[in-house]
Amino acid sequence: MEYSVTFIESVKRTASAVSYRFSRPAGFTFRAGQYVIVDLGAGLVHPLSLSEAPAERDFLEFTKRLTGSPFCDKLQGLAAGEVFKVKGPSGHFTLDGSEKSLVLLAGGIGITPIRSILKSLTGQTARPAQTILIYGNLHAADIAFREELEGLGLPGYRLVHVLADPQGVAGSYRGYITDEIIAAVVADLEGATCMVSGPPVMVAAMQKNLAGLGVAPGQIRTDIFMGYE
Ligand SMILES: Cc1cc2nc3c(=O)[nH]c(=O)nc-3n(C[C@H](O)[C@H](O)[C@H](O)COP(=O)(O)OP(=O)(O)OC[C@H]3O[C@@H](n4cnc5c(N)ncnc54)[C@H](O)[C@@H]3O)c2cc1C
Repeated sequence: MEYSVTFIESVKRTASAVSYRFSRPAGFTFRAGQYVIVDLGAGLVHPLSLSEAPAERDFLEFTKRLTGSPFCDKLQGLAAGEVFKVKGPSGHFTLDGSEKSLVLLAGGIGITPIRSILKSLTGQTARPAQTILIYGNLHAADIAFREELEGLGLPGYRLVHVLADPQGVAGSYRGYITDEIIAAVVADLEGATCMVSGPPVMVAAMQKNLAGLGVAPGQIRTDIFMGYE
């Protein structure tokens, strides 16, 4: 379905990640982890994950990494009340209720669908017994939704930061997310559902890491942010 929506406001998450909030069309429903195709006109079209949870608020929101592209320029120039189009929702990077234990691996802006999924779990009684988020970024300043994710208050939840920057933050691992880090953080991968979201290179590396740790392809769900290197 295609909808005309109205831009409401933007919220800066980090120096290079901004959330854009817009009106929720009547009857629009989606599942945490899904995305919409955002059409700003003049051929400026991109798929973007919805970063809020379905029942969280009465508006919709996506969060874009700013790259200086024409699409980003247009987004940054939006004024409240301007209209653009979204198509969707689409995507299968979602929960189906069968997850006993959840391992979430996010690379940078790949956190957006995972934030939605985590927020949706906070309101539910039927949820995985254990939810571990391993969140990779270059620097502490790049951690989008940091405060929220660190204070989620979800039973059985643990967040581990992995930062390329040697400075790190409390309890963080250094470098990129490796198989050693996953093995050190997740005591038991057997039967776990692993969800990976990020740029193509990151997702491919995580698939390799998980395979090396004995995780079967059927246990892995991916959201590949095509368009980033
Ligand atoms: C399912 C899905 C969900 C996604 N969710 C999100 C999300 O929540 N947040 C988010 O930020 N992104 C998300 N993405 C990625 C998003 O759709 C864009 O592809 C990405 O943000 C890059 O868009 P851009 O406008 O910044 O750059 P673009 O202008 O589209 O450029 C993308 C890349 O192509 C290069 N490029 C552009 N034009 C040219 C050219 N003429 N010649 C050579 N190279 C060129 C750029 O240097 C850059 O590396 C998602 C992607 C998918 C598939």
